[in-house]
Amino acid sequence: MASKKNLVSNESIKGFIFDIKRFAVHDGPGIRTTIFFKGCPLHCLWCHNPEGIDRRPELLLRSARCARCHACVKACPKNALSPGADGDPVTVDRSLCDRCGACVDACAYGALEIAGRQTTVADLVAEAERDRVFFESSGGGVTLSGGEPLAQPEFSLALLEALKVRGLAAALDTSGAVEGDILDRAADLADLILYDLKTMDEAVHRRFVKTGNARILENLRRLNRRGRAVRVRIPLAAGVNDGEENIDASIRFLKTLASVRRVDLLKYHRGGEEKYRNLGRAADFEIFEPPSDGRMEDIRRAFAEAGFNVSIGG
Ligand code: SF4
Ligand code: SF4
Repeated sequence: MASKKNLVSNESIKGFIFDIKRFAVHDGPGIRTTIFFKGCPLHCLWCHNPEGIDRRPELLLRSARCARCHACVKACPKNALSPGADGDPVTVDRSLCDRCGACVDACAYGALEIAGRQTTVADLVAEAERDRVFFESSGGGVTLSGGEPLAQPEFSLALLEALKVRGLAAALDTSGAVEGDILDRAADLADLILYDLKTMDEAVHRRFVKTGNARILENLRRLNRRGRAVRVRIPLAAGVNDGEENIDASIRFLKTLASVRRVDLLKYHRGGEEKYRNLGRAADFEIFEPPSDGRMEDIRRAFAEAGFNVSIGG
């Protein structure tokens, strides 16, 4: 267990997050506080938290809320904002924006927001302590999610350590696209690993996630060798990874890993679409179709018949 001395020095470590969700029930067992870390090495075309990809804070512009008052245009010290043509909502030149937030303060309509803020381990622990009673009564705890928490290794490891010292349960939600030794250290501190598995097919992975899957698969084997409890989460999109071949390959692979205790099948949804637009990155988002309810049930049954504790949804 980490010493109190280490804890004191580590609690001042800073990092970037973009959200904290209290009373979450889909990010591990019981009632949870989920902390969303900024920064992710992957670029999944269906990502529903695109504000988690870039490590730095980013400006979100919700054009539908813009009242065309142009208070933000006057407030911007970089001349990054311009009135829209023909009475359209304001536009932002992101090459000029330094993410200072002055326009957010100037906007009375909630059309602008900076996604992401710097915080400390101490602040996050204090946030988690608010719900200790709910964690203890429900078997819940804190979930580190994102983005990829381990893309800020010093920060996330210090948080996991601080939670452990206080007896607060922690789950790590990871893409697995991280350094193996960092994952080892995190896994030893976390009570549960939620591990995303997109597809077994390297070419499909490169097409839809923008990186290969070799390290992700190897890191899952690595966690298994370490004997850490893993819950695998598979996001499913029709025509991408819901076919027989990928499902069979996933089942064959996961059956070799004794530490995989449960599989969650997550049906694709378009929750990220508007966020991509608000971030000025609409071109990075690709629209897919969710598998039908019948196909989801077929996949669930295939995992169940292979002996997995499996459910649809988190
Ligand atoms: S301050 Fe807000 S409402 Fe006014 S123009 Fe800017 S974004 Fe639109
Ligand atoms: S965040 Fe700052 S630089 Fe960027 S548009 Fe707003 S006021 Fe201008």
